[in-house]
Amino acid sequence: MFKRLRLVLLLSSVAVAQNSSPPASKPNFDGQSWWCYVKVLAADDMEGRETGSAGLRRAEAYIVEQLRKDGLQPAGVHGFYQPVKFISRRIDEPNSRLALVRAGWTEPLVLGQDALFSTRVPLAPEVDAPLTFVGYGLRVPEEKYDDYAGLDLKGKVVVLILGSPAGMPGPIADHYQSPEQMFQTLRDVGAVGVIMVLNPAAMDTTWERIAMRRTAATMSLADPKLSPARGIQLSVMFNPATAQKLFQGTGHSFEEIAALAKDRKPMPHFPLNASVQARTRVIEAPVESENIVAKLPGSSPTLKDQYVVLSSHIDHLGIGAPIHGHAIYNGAMDNASGCALNLDIADELHRTHAKLDRSVLFVFVTAEEKGLLGSEYFAAYPTVPRHSMVANINTDMFLPILPLKVLTVYGLAESTLGDEVTRIAQANGVEAQPDPEPLRNAFIRSDQYSFVRIGVPALVMQVGFKPGSPEENTAHKWLSERYHAPADNLQQPVDLQAAAKFEDIVEELTVKVANDPQPPSWKSDSFFRRFLQQPDPAGMPLEVYEDDCP
Ligand SMILES: [Zn+2]
Repeated sequence: MFKRLRLVLLLSSVAVAQNSSPPASKPNFDGQSWWCYVKVLAADDMEGRETGSAGLRRAEAYIVEQLRKDGLQPAGVHGFYQPVKFISRRIDEPNSRLALVRAGWTEPLVLGQDALFSTRVPLAPEVDAPLTFVGYGLRVPEEKYDDYAGLDLKGKVVVLILGSPAGMPGPIADHYQSPEQMFQTLRDVGAVGVIMVLNPAAMDTTWERIAMRRTAATMSLADPKLSPARGIQLSVMFNPATAQKLFQGTGHSFEEIAALAKDRKPMPHFPLNASVQARTRVIEAPVESENIVAKLPGSSPTLKDQYVVLSSHIDHLGIGAPIHGHAIYNGAMDNASGCALNLDIADELHRTHAKLDRSVLFVFVTAEEKGLLGSEYFAAYPTVPRHSMVANINTDMFLPILPLKVLTVYGLAESTLGDEVTRIAQANGVEAQPDPEPLRNAFIRSDQYSFVRIGVPALVMQVGFKPGSPEENTAHKWLSERYHAPADNLQQPVDLQAAAKFEDIVEELTVKVANDPQPPSWKSDSFFRRFLQQPDPAGMPLEVYEDDCP
């Protein structure tokens, strides 16, 4: 899962009740075959599968070998592979600095302690700009909500706290907090940059752990059409523990702002009593990596050219700062687990000669951890016609560390896929529930969102828990101890039965969607339906790209 730091508050969830319960089908999976794939993909010799690394190439070669064995057809650009070009950027911190300037007096900030530069934006070498606090920094026309209204932000850097006001539906807040939308809003108001203060009530991980990776390379797609941050000169993340420095002399305190954000209350907006002074040196390098695309052909003459897309990201964080002496970030759950599931399903569908009217497209994407970049590229340059993809079922870190009694379905209420999976889960003795923590923005935090943005109904699911249950503690403990840490390795406890049942549900959903005469559709009131009308949100060509891919 891609780490985008957002407000975390625990909201109670509404369970989705269903009356009809179709007969349960016999289980196909045992969890063992799944775990065998995980063991290969998350082994130390895959070196944490960093985008562009030899370790990721080895993991990809293994996946291709399995797909071949399973008799799947190559559906990439060069065989199973779709090459993707990136630019990696790393901050040269000793040659960079950041300061606040007040009435000619300069207060240097300590990089790593107070703040850090985000190199996902092509940082300008020199930025000097006044600062304005813009609350949550959201502009949401359909909610008639605008943190930028009436403010003159031309040439300024905005300061915001991550979060959203109470009452704003989760998917809408998610969408407008995405980098694409945020940078678009900044361009619209003429701002040149942003300082994002983390919300202390809402951190997935500690500031120290975030800061530890601050000099690691970030990546962007090399294709200029796919660069959301164009025109933005500065992006800084600020430590809430020292954020009071930003608010000095304004009559407001960060304590007050944090308290409002915690309760999702309305925010004040005001100019800060300071300008930011940033001097940066960034080291750039080209990187190449690949998506993998494979096809299991359907048999219906009228439907076989349509695809149910099963996706999962292969990349993880590579080798990084050691924690408890371990420097390889194995990414067993994130996301060897999802790739293993899709390999296992490909094998099972092929071995049992499952009847499929539509074809199933297996897409293993790269660079998810860099900001959903591999899937974004695939969505911009799909290797099958864009409108032939009828559904996307993405699997990312589905966390079979608890018994599978509750299935959390991100995107449950958005499309008819949610109704299907609710029925299938129930037939397996599992209750489907919507996202119990909508403010973690999980629906836009993995690769399904790239498909959503081109109009494809999509889901991502996880082994869930009820708010307040002991399972919730187990899941939260996993996030704080293992998520994006070397401890997400092969030495952690997993529940093979939960994994097996989860696979049964994904497989049944896949087969159902592949054989249903009607393709899935967005609900009439779904926010994401808009992308059907605007199937080309990034101004990308609609044609299928073959060998002339940029
Ligand atoms: Zn991740």
